[in-house]
Amino acid sequence: MRTYIVGNWKMNFTVGESSIYLHKLLKRIKPARGLQIAIAPSFIALQPLSLQIDRKKLRLVAQNCNAKDFGAYTGETAISQLRGLVDYAIIGHSERRYVFGETDNMIKEKVAACIRNNIAPILCIGETENERTFGETADVLKDQLTSGLADVSREDLEKCIIAYEPVWAISSVKGARPAAPDDIAMSINIIRDHLRSTYGEKIAENIPVLFGGSVNPSNAGAYLTIPGVNGLLIGGASLIADQFNDIIEIAKRVTK
Ligand code: PEP
Repeated sequence: MRTYIVGNWKMNFTVGESSIYLHKLLKRIKPARGLQIAIAPSFIALQPLSLQIDRKKLRLVAQNCNAKDFGAYTGETAISQLRGLVDYAIIGHSERRYVFGETDNMIKEKVAACIRNNIAPILCIGETENERTFGETADVLKDQLTSGLADVSREDLEKCIIAYEPVWAISSVKGARPAAPDDIAMSINIIRDHLRSTYGEKIAENIPVLFGGSVNPSNAGAYLTIPGVNGLLIGGASLIADQFNDIIEIAKRVTK
């Protein structure tokens, strides 16, 4: 299975800054077999960056989308409008769930919209600090997986990517702290077991599971070697080209 290194720029960088960053990154990275590098800039930067990008080195990701393909939805962007620009879309990021109030049902519809438009959804799941304290992690992960993938057919499941992002480990969350590899391993096992028991061994083994939460060049190697982790979703550290590039180099070394 490929290893994914995905940078989520969130609401940062102008179009010009995005372009300069991409220029820098493209000069540094070389295509590496087995490694899929991708960045998720703001919507406004997707079109210009899609003209600048070298798809052998790097792919583009949408940070969100509307679940409908078109219509009277002022201010929204349909995933159908992003066809040809992005290969992936981040769906159900904890900021979408908890800052913008996205429900499991909305997330399920967005995942289905991605599949319908041939764009791979990166479905984010993860427990909050409170849920973890109350011992609810396994239930939360299973529930978010079940509802997020509810409208995906068996044939399409292999187009989906799961990102395990414990909310308490996301660097921009107040009081966040990096997760210990043992904690991540435990949650990855819960996710893998659930995928296996729901869809069978063969399908489950082909669904990539990424980890995200305060990833930086000092912990990326340890996180990437956790069994069952197929890559990283990176927020803060992806905003610094040197750090993102260092993580790419680490991924090349540890996944060889
Ligand atoms: C994220 O928000 O998806 C994320 C992983 O952020 P950070 O790497 O900054 O914790």
